[in-house]
Amino acid sequence: MSIWGRFLSLFSKDMAMDLGTANTLVYVKGEGIVVNEPSVVVIDRNTEEPKAVGHEAKHMFGMTPDDLIAVRPMKDGVIADFFVTQKMITYFLKKAAKAKTLRSPKLIVCIPSGITQVEKKAVKESAINAGARKVYLIEEPMAAAVGAGLPVESSVSMVVDIGGGTTEAAVISLSATAFQKSLRIAGDEMDEAIMNHMRYEHKLVIGPYQAEEIKIKIGSAAPLQEKMTFVARGKDLVKGVPKAIEVNDDEVRYALEIPIKAIVEVVDEALSGTSAELAAELTKTGVMITGGGSLLRGLDKRIADETRIKIHRAQNPLESVVMGSGKVLEDFKLLKKICIT
Ligand code: ADP
Ligand code: MG
Repeated sequence: MSIWGRFLSLFSKDMAMDLGTANTLVYVKGEGIVVNEPSVVVIDRNTEEPKAVGHEAKHMFGMTPDDLIAVRPMKDGVIADFFVTQKMITYFLKKAAKAKTLRSPKLIVCIPSGITQVEKKAVKESAINAGARKVYLIEEPMAAAVGAGLPVESSVSMVVDIGGGTTEAAVISLSATAFQKSLRIAGDEMDEAIMNHMRYEHKLVIGPYQAEEIKIKIGSAAPLQEKMTFVARGKDLVKGVPKAIEVNDDEVRYALEIPIKAIVEVVDEALSGTSAELAAELTKTGVMITGGGSLLRGLDKRIADETRIKIHRAQNPLESVVMGSGKVLEDFKLLKKICIT
């Protein structure tokens, strides 16, 4: 490193960022996770400047006046709105650095394993424009595996990351992805399935965050021991007036069936796509599921029953990707081995 580079690094911090469709997390070297907020930005339509980012913006979703618009700039695991994504990254990195002038010399950004070269370039450019000097990319399933403490350098593991926009199944062997399968169906589609169900079965229009709340409070992928209910609130489809309907877990499970089937199928396909040798190893180690979507009640059991393989849920599914990238940031040899520049 040049003298100037060394001088700058005294005033800047290495960071790792999990730029998710639902949540963005930032890890600062030597400090840990310092940012964990929804990937939502409220934009002023007139000036095109962000009015709110993260938690504050999520609270405003669906309730903004006409001149403001709440957007989720990441869709299906990739940048759908380049301009807004850049604003969001800049905001979170500055927040993580705790000062306006600090720059990040080294930044690791997690990307879905299925993204194209063009999409990778867009992520890197956004990070550079946001103040990073050197950007490394790491595939999310690899980061999640490292984060969960799986032995990525020495043995075989399979990780299924169920996020907001994508489900990614990857088999990792000797520090590389041996096989991967990704699907643009995950938590968001579950919310949409609940919204559609309420609309057609109960003539009740609900917003995406109410749907998400129903999923988190009473949603499931396999029958539950105890009955659960939730009062859904929205407006009547025909009359447009406020309306509330009580729903139970059976009904919500039925509504979630299509996205859940698709997720189970992608795990099955990833398993069938691996070589006999790797598959043999996986029957011993099992498969780890992670990402916020893996928290759905009974999803582990459902996948295990249908694929006949052991399923473990990561300890902190919402944090495993950023914790893994943080570990890589602290270990330069590992970074050189598994990151893409
Ligand atoms: P991303 O990496 O795409 O940002 P995350 O891993 O942060 O996604 O997961 C976000 C998804 O997880 C959202 O769809 C959210 O609704 C879902 N989620 C969070 N907690 C739960 C829960 N307890 N049960 C079911 N889904 C959950
Ligand atoms: Mg993720």
